[in-house]
Amino acid sequence: MSVSPSTSKDFIREIIDEDLSSGKHDTTVTRFPPEPNGYLHIGHAKSICLNFSIADEYGGRCHLRFDDTNPVKEDAEYVDSIKEDINWLGFDWADHIYFASDYFEKLYEWAVYLIREGKAYVDDQDADEIRNGRGNLQQPGTESPYRGRSVEENLTIFEQMKSGDFGNGEKVLRAKIDMDHPNLNMRDPVIYRILHEDHHRTGDAWCIYPMYDFTHGQSDALEFITHSLCTLEFENHRPLYEWFIENLPVPSSPRQIEFSRLNLNYTVMSKRKLLQLVEENHVTGWDDPRMPTISGIRRRGYPAEAVRNFCKTIGITKFQSVNDIALLENSVREILNKKSSRFMAVLDPIKVVITNYPDGETEELESVINPEDPSLGVRKIPFGREIYIERDDFLEDPPKKFFRLSPGAEVRLRAAYWIKCEKVIKDDDGEIVELHCTYDPATKSGQNPPDGRKVKATIHWVSAPHALNAEIRLYDRLFGEEAPDKKGGSFLEHLNPESLKVLPNGKLETNLAGVFPGETVQFERLGYFCADKESSPDTLIFNRTVGLRDSWSKAKKKT
Ligand code: ATP
Ligand code: MG
Repeated sequence: MSVSPSTSKDFIREIIDEDLSSGKHDTTVTRFPPEPNGYLHIGHAKSICLNFSIADEYGGRCHLRFDDTNPVKEDAEYVDSIKEDINWLGFDWADHIYFASDYFEKLYEWAVYLIREGKAYVDDQDADEIRNGRGNLQQPGTESPYRGRSVEENLTIFEQMKSGDFGNGEKVLRAKIDMDHPNLNMRDPVIYRILHEDHHRTGDAWCIYPMYDFTHGQSDALEFITHSLCTLEFENHRPLYEWFIENLPVPSSPRQIEFSRLNLNYTVMSKRKLLQLVEENHVTGWDDPRMPTISGIRRRGYPAEAVRNFCKTIGITKFQSVNDIALLENSVREILNKKSSRFMAVLDPIKVVITNYPDGETEELESVINPEDPSLGVRKIPFGREIYIERDDFLEDPPKKFFRLSPGAEVRLRAAYWIKCEKVIKDDDGEIVELHCTYDPATKSGQNPPDGRKVKATIHWVSAPHALNAEIRLYDRLFGEEAPDKKGGSFLEHLNPESLKVLPNGKLETNLAGVFPGETVQFERLGYFCADKESSPDTLIFNRTVGLRDSWSKAKKKT
């Protein structure tokens, strides 16, 4: 896997260096802890790259741990997609795959331990009462009337909770910490709740489930994680993370370190909102190429290497910021320019008849497969009397600076000849249906003719009888607003109505027949396109990955 070496170290790697040189640790163990309640998105990629790269760089290991403590929203489908996405990004957890649900028994034991130590109690208050009793930043909390229950009573009721004697929400187990603590998370947080729900792995074995805060750090400790890297919103939870580690007989003492999340403009990243986009059919699924999900950008044709490079470029800091999606798109272009084969494709065709080209004859012309990699050699392209060109490469009434095809004007066909437009054929409605042109045999392969004539433009084309038909899907940003989340109203109001344009009559160079679903190629002059997973030899479908340059920010500035 290629990731360019980092120039300076971020603060997390500096901490790790220190811990290794001071002898605090002799190895580095990290983890990526997704909750299987949705598909991974580009934000997760930042965390994945960080955790797995650190393990690689330090010769340590990175665990994949599913944080599956909420049976209501979790599903095995998500587990599978998450594994596939991490692998696709180029990372490997080897045999270190774990589930927080594997620790339910141990966590239950530790809850009992806290009760015995007088550090946890069963509370009969409902969720509202508990919330109100917690106070706020100005006001201390008030102690629950059940806070003084005896150890014995707590043990008995907790056991009954586990046996299913109570309904959802009737009772909870809370850690007994400090209702006056300046950090609200320390005001007797709930650590177990009753949920009569089947779990995707433990089935109906449990009807009480540990809360995230009671699960996460202990799972880290059980796996001997040395550095537990998470995003900034957990900074306020760190004292609680540390309290559990200090007050439980855990086998190791991991350290939580927070860094800032990846945010991107023109999209949303909350799993709840992504789920809403899917469920309300604003997109075709989690892997719709407009989605910021890993599966979406994969289907769009983004190379994993570009995602890794992007994550590297934005770096790891503690500052909240929004990253420009144009930066990600540039990473994509940079890799695709190096790696993708070139082909010609006409998205919106108009037929051209070259009237002085012998009828029924075909010749083979040559063009490079990738100018960035001459070792790949050339491809052969058929040329004949009938070709397609792009409808907007012709203008009947061109403005002054239009150098492409127009009546009486001459243009270079890429890797072929110069042609001159002699006649415009229209249907009864005045729509242009065909152009009649002549070609100059002295301009073969696009060379200048001996008489010193010049042309200013080169256009792409496809031989009509050889052309493959294809559906072309042009994707644009899913949202028209930079911050759809914050713009006011529902984020759905800011969906870009033009985010998908389907062109059903694409004509492709015959060499594209061998392109397999998932492969990204360059359509010359147009951009990078990826054969969709639904593409088959009978129905070719290509998704536009990204244009050749960033036309979007320019267009945006003009408006
Ligand atoms: P939620 O908890 O609301 O379902 P989440 O985005 O936190 O959503 P998790 O599955 O809990 O999803 O996240 C797994 C890991 O990925 C966590 O360590 C989390 O901090 C990290 N992560 C999630 N979103 C981002 C982001 N935008 N940038 C960087 N890391 C992220
Ligand atoms: Mg989370």
